Amino acid sequence: MLWDVGIIGGGIVGMATAHALANPRRKVIVLEAEGRLAAHQTGHNSGVIHSGLYYRPGTLKARNCVEGRDAMYAFCRDHDIPHERCGKLIVATNEAELPALGELERRGRANGLVGMRRLVGEEIPEHEPYARGVAALHVTETGIVDYTRVNETLGRLVREAGGTVETNARVGAVKRATSSMVLETARGPFECRALVNCGGLQSDRIARLCGVDPKLRIVPFRGDYYELVPERRSLVRNLLYPVPDPEFPFLGVHFTRMIGGGVEAGPNAVLALRREGYGRWSFSPRDAAAVASYGGFWRMARRHWRAGMGEVFRSLSTRAFVEALRRLVPELQIADVRRAGAGVRAQALEPSGLLVDDFRIVEAERMIHVLNAPSPAATASLSIGRTIAEAATRRFDLP
Ligand SMILES: Cc1cc2nc3c(=O)[nH]c(=O)nc-3n(C[C@H](O)[C@H](O)[C@H](O)COP(=O)(O)OP(=O)(O)OC[C@H]3O[C@@H](n4cnc5c(N)ncnc54)[C@H](O)[C@@H]3O)c2cc1C
Repeated sequence: MLWDVGIIGGGIVGMATAHALANPRRKVIVLEAEGRLAAHQTGHNSGVIHSGLYYRPGTLKARNCVEGRDAMYAFCRDHDIPHERCGKLIVATNEAELPALGELERRGRANGLVGMRRLVGEEIPEHEPYARGVAALHVTETGIVDYTRVNETLGRLVREAGGTVETNARVGAVKRATSSMVLETARGPFECRALVNCGGLQSDRIARLCGVDPKLRIVPFRGDYYELVPERRSLVRNLLYPVPDPEFPFLGVHFTRMIGGGVEAGPNAVLALRREGYGRWSFSPRDAAAVASYGGFWRMARRHWRAGMGEVFRSLSTRAFVEALRRLVPELQIADVRRAGAGVRAQALEPSGLLVDDFRIVEAERMIHVLNAPSPAATASLSIGRTIAEAATRRFDLP
């Protein structure tokens, strides 16, 4: 069988791409390494439908987040996926954070958010009774969902549209021929006319397997979560965030009410020594060596070592983690939280040491590689999928 498009990776970006591409005339196949879809970033995230507030206007993140957010709400409505547009509060806990809060508000307006309101400190408890700060931004477009459910639904729709989804099919080699390429997997070879790499934490390696120099390396950052114990869940109503450090792309530890119940706190961001390792001591010699041998990592480490050490300390010490959260909710005590899961972010890093901020999607001959799709890529996935499908239809001469 000759497939028109082979998509590597059954996370939400791969499945949204397959959903946008699949139709009965086209032979589309998704090859997923694990035994189930959404096994990595998509199944280990905070479940937030981001509003589009944070991103520099004009970037791929800004455009795809805003379009993708609306598409995600519509998709959830159309397919009966539980979700809630519950809104979120970003709290400045001191005067020094006010300029950054103002910049967020400006970005939000530039990105077309309409349900945003600036609050003075005294108004904060009307939204979050236990939160304290000097000012806040209330954003009504933010919501919550379970992205694993979204991914499963995409999988079903892809199959119904005539597409094929193969699990336990890790692509280990790619052989290029004149007008096709063969993707070698444990389930056998799959010959495709074109390919889309949505490999998340492995996307740089997959690009190299395809003979494409990604010009960056994926560096994994683990985020540990805590959750509020059931009797203290009332400390947080919805989503409660600090003002993020503009230097650092992660958002700072925050509180997130989950669509399935409960309130999570976190995640922090510590360098992970295994790309798909969810424990604090997870280690892969290959992944650790890939970080240690990369000049870009050491250049980044020189710039951000102070923030990095703080994150490591918070990862090891519940007391330090709770201390960071108490800036938002002073009443929080250590006994109010317990450890929950973890997720690993695929963060692309340039050789110069710069953290790649925007989504990066690179086209090569008969290929499209998604090389950087960190948060808010789950929110933005339907828009990213549509954009990739348009490019693929244009470039690959698809039926
Ligand atoms: C802790 C954390 C919190 C986050 N919170 C949010 C949030 O609240 N809202 C939001 O919008 N975004 C959030 N994100 C970001 C979001 O989860 C990701 O941007 C998104 O899931 C990326 O999807 P993906 O399909 O690119 O990657 P993934 O979901 O990682 O999927 C990649 C897939 O490729 C497969 N694969 C890898 N190698 C191969 C191979 N060789 N052959 C075949 N398959 C392969 C993997 O098994 C995996 O299933 C968060 C991320 C993390 C880690």
